[in-house]
Amino acid sequence: MTAAFVDALRRRLPRLTLLTDEIDRESYRRDETAHLEPGLPLAVALPSTTDEVAEILRAATEHRMPVVPRGAGSGLSGGAAGVEGGLTLALTRMNALLEIDRANLLAIVQPGVINADLKTAVAAEGLFYAPDPASYEFCSIGGNIGTNAGGLCCVKYGVTRDAVLALEVVLADGRVIRTGGRNVKDVAGYSLTQLFVGSQGTLGIVTEATLRLRPAPPPMRTTLAFFPSVEAAGDAVARITAAGLEPCTLELMDRVTIAAVDDWHHLGLDRSAAALLLIESDAPGDAADAELASAEACCTDAGASSVNRATDPMEADWLRQVRRLAYRAMERLGVARMEDVGAPRSRVPELIAAIERIATAHEVRCGTFGHAGDGNLHPTFVWQRGDAAAEGRVQAACEELYRAAIAMGGTVTGEHGIGASRRAFLEEQRGTDAVEVMRSIKSALDPLGILNPGKVV
Ligand SMILES: Cc1cc2nc3c(=O)[nH]c(=O)nc-3n(C[C@H](O)[C@H](O)[C@H](O)COP(=O)(O)OP(=O)(O)OC[C@H]3O[C@@H](n4cnc5c(N)ncnc54)[C@H](O)[C@@H]3O)c2cc1C
Repeated sequence: MTAAFVDALRRRLPRLTLLTDEIDRESYRRDETAHLEPGLPLAVALPSTTDEVAEILRAATEHRMPVVPRGAGSGLSGGAAGVEGGLTLALTRMNALLEIDRANLLAIVQPGVINADLKTAVAAEGLFYAPDPASYEFCSIGGNIGTNAGGLCCVKYGVTRDAVLALEVVLADGRVIRTGGRNVKDVAGYSLTQLFVGSQGTLGIVTEATLRLRPAPPPMRTTLAFFPSVEAAGDAVARITAAGLEPCTLELMDRVTIAAVDDWHHLGLDRSAAALLLIESDAPGDAADAELASAEACCTDAGASSVNRATDPMEADWLRQVRRLAYRAMERLGVARMEDVGAPRSRVPELIAAIERIATAHEVRCGTFGHAGDGNLHPTFVWQRGDAAAEGRVQAACEELYRAAIAMGGTVTGEHGIGASRRAFLEEQRGTDAVEVMRSIKSALDPLGILNPGKVV
């Protein structure tokens, strides 16, 4: 059956790049979710056109072949991880920036475009594509849409969903549909665009996206505040939110993460601090200074030990880079499991306290950083490969953490997705009826269950 599927693909699409050597398939087994044990794909297809994607799905339907859509493979919930004996469909070759429509402030792209490349291309036209995951230099727009990716400036500009106007999607049976359009306002029928965003490749395969652009904002001004406790940093976040300030970045790093980054790059960060907040404003003119001054006052009131304004754009860039290095720095310490819990912003101090309490109770090593301004934190657990006892303690800590987040009206995942790694908790967070509705939608669009089986629902 499986060999027959590969033969059928070769016959129907003789020009399709199809990887079947084990060594090639191995490199598509995992995404960046290091703690999962995913399956080995039977083959990896690298289509170049929507027509090829549609033909692949028609063949997959006929052969009941599982299909795993994949972008750059940087996901942190196992969404693009291989399914044993399935087909991985990597969209990396469909990477053309098709159009920048200045008059309508939008761009039309294929899914394999790298986020940073889109940002650079539109910046050359004086425009701005807002979503900026910390992985923006290597993740793809298709993957960002698949996960509804967040990022550092979502606190002001929203997540990927807020930037998607329209999609071209190939359905499980090979039909190609278009959702949305170039219109800013459009309420004709259900919003299929919003349904596909964040569906992690379980409902359809995105082959083109129309994305909202903005005029380029003014250069950012940056402040770094250090705190004697993580709770004080959380308190500052809650004060900044309650004050109605709208910084374009409000990011947190705790003591463990500061040390991991500093050990790696020897940057001279204040290692005596328990936490830092990176705060940026891109408000126009003097408004940026005023906004940062108010945010700095919130930090001081919350007990900051020092507050330092960056003096030039290079220093500000460097500080942003420090935050983006956090996960890679933690990965150097062992197997890293980055979690993604969220809570209402007023409850960030509580979420931070819960993370600390749970990590201590389970005797696990944990560094926390993340998008504090969105109430979305990444407690990252680290253990030595092969230490099964430590891995078991981390699993127990994660489960307690999910329950703690749900109990405070939060979420088990703010931006990485349920994927393969958090499925057991979807029902606990959303309730049985809501998950039943999700399953009905899934079976309406993918009745044979061939699209990314074992993920999300
Ligand atoms: C160092 C680091 C920092 C990160 N920082 C952030 C961050 O700040 N914010 C954030 O949100 N994430 C972050 N991530 C996670 C990851 O980069 C994002 O989830 C990103 O959106 C994944 O994009 P990708 O191209 O790698 O997609 P993949 O990992 O390949 O796929 C992600 C999901 O989308 C689906 N998918 C991919 N392409 C398509 C398509 N064309 N059609 C339908 N479904 C598709 C896949 O099936 C999968 O379920 C980070 C990861 C790393 C390693």
